[in-house]
Amino acid sequence: MNNFLITPIEYLKGVGPQKAELLKKEIGIFSFKDLLEYYPFRYVDRSRYHTISELLEVNSLVQIKGRIVGIFEAGVGRNKRLTAKFQDETGMIDLVWFKGASWIKSSLKVNEEIQIYGKPTNYKGKWNIPHPEISAVAPPGGEGFQPVYSSTERLNSTGLNTKGIEKLVKVLLEQLSGQVEELLPESLRKEHRLITREQAIHWIHSPGSELEAQRARFRLKFEELFFLQLELLVRKKITMQKSKGYRMETVGSLFNEFYEKHIPFEMTNAQKKVLKEIRRDLNTGHHMNRLLQGDVGSGKTLVALLSMLLAIGNGFQAALIAPTEILALQHFESISEMLEPLNVKVALLTGSTKKKARIPLHEELQNGEISMLIGTHALLEDTVKFQNLGLVVIDEQHRFGVAQRARMWKKNKLAPHVLIMTATPIPRTLAMTFYGDLDVSVIDELPPGRKPITTMHKFDSSRLRLFGFLKEEIAKGRQVYIVYPLILESETLDFNNLMDGYEAISRSFPLPDYRVSIVHGKMKSEDKEFEMNRFVKGETQIMVATTVIEVGVNVPNASVMVIESAERFGLSQLHQLRGRVGRGAEQSYCILMTGDKLSADSTKRMQTMVRTNDGFEIAEVDLQLRGPGDLLGTQQSGLLDLKIANLSKDGQIVVMARDVAKKILTDDPTIELPANKGIRSRLSEMLKGRPDWGRIA
Ligand code: ADP
Ligand code: MG
Repeated sequence: MNNFLITPIEYLKGVGPQKAELLKKEIGIFSFKDLLEYYPFRYVDRSRYHTISELLEVNSLVQIKGRIVGIFEAGVGRNKRLTAKFQDETGMIDLVWFKGASWIKSSLKVNEEIQIYGKPTNYKGKWNIPHPEISAVAPPGGEGFQPVYSSTERLNSTGLNTKGIEKLVKVLLEQLSGQVEELLPESLRKEHRLITREQAIHWIHSPGSELEAQRARFRLKFEELFFLQLELLVRKKITMQKSKGYRMETVGSLFNEFYEKHIPFEMTNAQKKVLKEIRRDLNTGHHMNRLLQGDVGSGKTLVALLSMLLAIGNGFQAALIAPTEILALQHFESISEMLEPLNVKVALLTGSTKKKARIPLHEELQNGEISMLIGTHALLEDTVKFQNLGLVVIDEQHRFGVAQRARMWKKNKLAPHVLIMTATPIPRTLAMTFYGDLDVSVIDELPPGRKPITTMHKFDSSRLRLFGFLKEEIAKGRQVYIVYPLILESETLDFNNLMDGYEAISRSFPLPDYRVSIVHGKMKSEDKEFEMNRFVKGETQIMVATTVIEVGVNVPNASVMVIESAERFGLSQLHQLRGRVGRGAEQSYCILMTGDKLSADSTKRMQTMVRTNDGFEIAEVDLQLRGPGDLLGTQQSGLLDLKIANLSKDGQIVVMARDVAKKILTDDPTIELPANKGIRSRLSEMLKGRPDWGRIA
């Protein structure tokens, strides 16, 4: 990088040691470059004022000059609000505050000329401006389009408020000419209408118009996302080249026989597409590491089965790992049944497999008699040795740690291929980024003939009617889940709720007509399994549970899912829970029970659940509500250190950036063309300390 830009910030005119110290501590600005990348978070168009009379035509942020002519408080407690009547030459509008009323009230002055900045909102046919920004009127001859920087209290107190930061940036921009290296080749800039880097840096800090600000933002967002995607693709390539994998060249007669004669139903197009991707992976000579996303009920098991048949047909063994014993057992039973007519030995291994049964099982795994092993974590133990394991399928990945997966690698000379299946949909643009170094397949279609689940949102007050409805369903022979939240922080309270609920249900659904199961985290695992099994076998009609049932049990006869305190669950969890019903031929229902008072976010979650059954659509809403950090947990948060792009809002730019990055790597795999010099230098900076980079080819 060029020397000018890495100059320490204290050398900038107007900074000095004391301010420099604060800039470093408070907002992480150490160098000129850091200051240039401290982008404004919005702009104020100081070049003009709006008038109150024209507000109806303006659908955005407005700046108005005027006076407050009266201040009123109304409401009590949480409904308390403050209203100020604000007037200019053309009319009057209300400014309103719902929070901090008394504090704001003391800072408002009546009859003094001020300017306000905010977004007019229509409430019951009347316009007002909630929570406006208030400042003294700018000096005449205003400053045009002005950037607004975020600051901190301590910075403010030394004069480094947004204005102070703006001044420093201006000083720096004046010296900038010729110092900004262009990173993107001209042809690429032309094709995608990107302005130069130097121009973008000027315009982002000091645009002459909204359009200039937009073009600057677009260029910088693109650049940021482009290099992120490029890095991910390069890393993936490096990993791929390093990891040799078993080559599975033929389709094999086993696969063909099953596919032609015994497959229980026509595969959906999505299943076919994914299977093709897997088949291709198995024959590259590299190690497959593929994530398979598919909504609950989309038929991932069949894809897993066919993939395993491919591996077996090539002379390898295959394993399927499920997160719980019940799931492992269910997979074992359904797969054994489907493979009945074929000559394939399938075995089950879980924590409760008896020692006596293990001895021959271990032996048959080692001598290759068993071709397919289905089980739980028990399968990872070092005593479990295979003759020639070629493929491992992991169902419901989020219950599996990376370390556990790594133990799988050692089960053969080369690491067996890995297929991870998850029913938690991740929005495409996020998957592209967070799993940018994995391959992702998506089953985006449900098998035909499913009756969509009907989802309803009910308030606690209608519980009696709910019980009536459950009785009708049970009378038809169906089974019901009732799920309670159990969150660690309020474990005791939640536990009490669950127990109270269980008692109320047992009272309303008395023996001998009704039998109720209960499963929660405080039970011993044998007891849990026992209760679950009673429900699976239809011996109980109601299953009261905490979220332990979240993962994958299949009880086609269960047609109602009641979720208590649904406002406390996240969208993806609600969707997962709902996926437990709708597995049989009958109409199924999901009933979301909530308290009467709901926050805006909770309301949106309930509405989304009622509106759609599409997991990917739900994931998109979840992303908007929670942001990418919360959605994926913190472990990948390094990738979220984005300066200007926003993964939940800039999806289109993510897609575009990835396409461009792919194309560059295809046309210039080692990134050596003179035109790509800028790209190379930035990328090698990003990959510094990674010796393998030199070897990409
Ligand atoms: P999930 O993706 O949630 O693991 P499953 O593999 O358990 O879904 O499949 C859900 C149900 O759909 C199963 O009963 C399965 O037999 C059935 N199924 C899977 N694929 C098809 C298909 N192509 N056509 C009809 N039914 C299918
Ligand atoms: Mg499944």
